[in-house]
Amino acid sequence: NVKEPTNLNTIADEYFRLAYHGLRAKDKSFNAELVSNLDPALPMISMVSQDVGRVLLNLFTNAFYSVHQKQKTAGADFKPLVEVSTKLIPPSLKYTGGAEIVVRDNGTGIPDAIKDKIMQPFFTTKPAGEGTGLGLSLSYDIIVKTHKGTININSKEGEGAEFIITLPIH
Ligand code: ADP
Ligand code: MG
Repeated sequence: NVKEPTNLNTIADEYFRLAYHGLRAKDKSFNAELVSNLDPALPMISMVSQDVGRVLLNLFTNAFYSVHQKQKTAGADFKPLVEVSTKLIPPSLKYTGGAEIVVRDNGTGIPDAIKDKIMQPFFTTKPAGEGTGLGLSLSYDIIVKTHKGTININSKEGEGAEFIITLPIH
């Protein structure tokens, strides 16, 4: 549980595939387009890599789950898509500089009525056994409390969701 210089692109890429193949192991007919835009200019960033890895894995798992759910109800022309991108945020007078990582999906989206609840521990819309509701609350602790980063969420019900994380470079 110590911070160490970490290549965020490497763990993002690893967990992206892991989450996808995890879902495909349960449903062989599931297919999604994976788009990965990882900024090669991203420097090594000091972080507890295992913890940040768990945050990313949960974001990817949530995203694939969401497009999978939508695929069950949407027509055959729905093309599930999950995208991960990283980019360097250069330092400025106001900011030390950091990394931004965005996980976006075109799945079910988050209804307005639950937007302020999804970060709470144990809040889940998934059936028992499929979700604990701990992923995002844990992410808040790891990203915001431990790493002094930020988490922002954009979503429109029915259209998808976007999770934007920043991690400062110290
Ligand atoms: P869990 O995945 O175990 O439900 P999380 O804390 O990871 O717990 O997520 C909490 C809830 O937030 C989910 O149950 C779901 O309702 C909502 N959510 C999270 N990510 C997404 C997403 N990408 N698309 C739609 N809803 C999401
Ligand atoms: Mg989750």
